Amino acid sequence: MSTGKPSLDLPFTNAFLDKYSPPQIVKWAAETFGEQLIMTSSFGAESAILIHMAATVFPRIKIVMVDTGYLFPETHNFMAELRKRFDLNIWTYRTQNDPIRYLQDADEEDPSWRKSVEQCCGVNKNEPFDRAMKELAPAAWLRGIRRDQADTRKERQIVEWSKRNNCYAISPLLPWSGRDIGLYMKDLGLPYHPLVAQGYLSIGCNPLSCTRPVQAGEDPRAGRWSGQTKTECGLHVDHTVEPTT
Ligand code: SF4
Repeated sequence: MSTGKPSLDLPFTNAFLDKYSPPQIVKWAAETFGEQLIMTSSFGAESAILIHMAATVFPRIKIVMVDTGYLFPETHNFMAELRKRFDLNIWTYRTQNDPIRYLQDADEEDPSWRKSVEQCCGVNKNEPFDRAMKELAPAAWLRGIRRDQADTRKERQIVEWSKRNNCYAISPLLPWSGRDIGLYMKDLGLPYHPLVAQGYLSIGCNPLSCTRPVQAGEDPRAGRWSGQTKTECGLHVDHTVEPTT
């Protein structure tokens, strides 16, 4: 880890943060890391919740948003709405590819489908994300993942050391269920992404291969990379927990 960044005893830290509520975890993160704390947001279905928690205790927190070139127009509109409502400090990192040219060069003939989601996510989603983390070099990063979203997230800890990003990854919403999220958002009158009303309960890019609406009773993330083995875009993969600092 670079000098000048706080160093944590992870087992001890997670033991006491397990007793904190998500807003308390966000407050702890802001107090512990100060200006060296950033957050990422996809401006997806329930993104307003973590954005609201973070902006409440750290109004100018840098919010990294990755623009793959294939987002729904509604996502851009939702981001603009939240930016205006909460006066957000959004840092958009865009793919280096022209979205149309990429499809031609990658032999992706059908714009509504990706034959190779790994390749497309690699160069259009993970590359801008890695560039953002390298340029901003945060000491810690708030992210909105929850344990109940995917099997790959069940073992996650509230604070983990990310070797990939050379910083701590903090997940305040990790223990909350979809019901907890819904109640909190209702209490505060926070808005959902506009496509939620059309059955899109987890929202990424707009090719049908990557996001589709779900049916009643389906898992909210069933609409992501539907019918494929992929369950993660890769931004939250490769984070390892160190037993101590
Ligand atoms: S989610 Fe789909 S369109 Fe978006 S970067 Fe990944 S493969 Fe490409």
